[in-house]
Order: sequence, then C-alpha cells, then structure tokens
Amino acid sequence: MARRFTEAKLVIASHNRDKVREIDELLAPYGVAAVSAGDLGLPSPEETGTTFLANAELKAHAAAQASRLPALADDSGLCVTALGGAPGIYSARWADEAKNFAMAMDRVWREVRASGSTDRGAAFISVLSLAWPDGHAESFEGRVDGHLVWPPRGDRGFGYDPMFVPIDGTLTFGEMESAAKHAISHRANAFRKLIDACFR
Ligand code: IMP
Repeated sequence: MARRFTEAKLVIASHNRDKVREIDELLAPYGVAAVSAGDLGLPSPEETGTTFLANAELKAHAAAQASRLPALADDSGLCVTALGGAPGIYSARWADEAKNFAMAMDRVWREVRASGSTDRGAAFISVLSLAWPDGHAESFEGRVDGHLVWPPRGDRGFGYDPMFVPIDGTLTFGEMESAAKHAISHRANAFRKLIDACFR
C-alpha cells in the first residue's frame, strides 16, 4: 500500500518553470497548495542518477529534507528508438545551460539521420517521486509513445514538444492545447498513478 498524502502543502522540487506550471495545473483539482523549490530558494541537487527513477527520487528527497515538507519531483526525457533511448536522462543537458531546445532538437534529428535507421519512433517518459521529510518516497512512471517529425512545429509546450507527435495523433505536442497534452502526456500518465495511489 502506498503512503497517502494528507498534508495541505507540498514543494514542487523543480527549478524548471515549464514543469512547475504543468505540475501545478495537474495538482489544481486536489486543493493542495504547491510552492516551487525555486521560490523557496532551495539549491538544485546534481542529477547523478543513471535512471529517471534515481534522479526523481534524488530531487524529491533533497527538497523534502531542505524544506521539511513533502516534495514532488519529476525526472523526464525524450527516448528516441533510433538512438538507443538517447537523449533519455540527458534530455535537459542536450540543451545546455542556455536551455537551447532548437539546438537540442537539431542534434536529435541530425543523430537520427546519421544513425541510418528509418525508425522515427520515440517516447517521452516521466517518473514522479513524492518524498516525505522522514525519508519515505513513492514513485510512479508514465510514458507516451509517438514519433518524431522534422521540422519542429508549434510554439506551445516546452523542450522537445515541437518535434513529437503522440501515437494516433497528427499535431505535435508543441501545437496542442495544454489540456489536450495533459490528457495523454507521460507526466499526466504518471500523475494519474500518483493520485490514485496517494491522494484518493
Ligand atoms: P529533467 O529536469 O532532468 O527531468 O529534464 C527533463 C527534460 O526532458 C526537459 O528539460 C525537456 O528537455 C525534456 N522533457 C521532459 N518532459 C517534456 C515534455 O513534456 N515536453 C518536452 N520536453 C520534455
């Protein structure tokens, strides 16, 4: 049995404004007051894990310890079949400090072309970890499968959204309304598992 969340407040353990906004929107129906790690001035821990799960737990634990509040972290990324799952946990790092996703998308496409593979399959994966100050954590994985398109399309969303079309879709995540993305996204999928296990 997962531990239930009974507190009134939690920290969103992220300094990524776009992610904080999406998690805030997903949490909104549950009446939880959310404050971000950035707003609390918490440091970002180094992501030394080799899996989404390890990095999500590391970020959630660090924020819960520093704030003495429950903390929710997401570790996520784009896994491209032709690249053996890259950029994966390195998705943010491919965009450099400058968060240059035009450059990161360009690199993904160049490497896919260079791989010689005709497979354009890709998936977004998200692991959400909810950690408490006493060291307990609950983690949930979500994914959405799809394929890559070039050139990128749309200016909604963030990160690699403009080059990703979810399965059975025609619009990229960058072209979709946020509600439509939330209906099927990896993060929303992990979120539903978290809500079912810890919030109901
Ligand atoms: P993290 O902060 O290390 O988990 O970085 C995750 C990175 O994966 C983000 O900076 C984006 O590059 C990418 N990513 C994760 N989720 C999404 C999404 O929903 N859309 C587009 N890119 C995403």
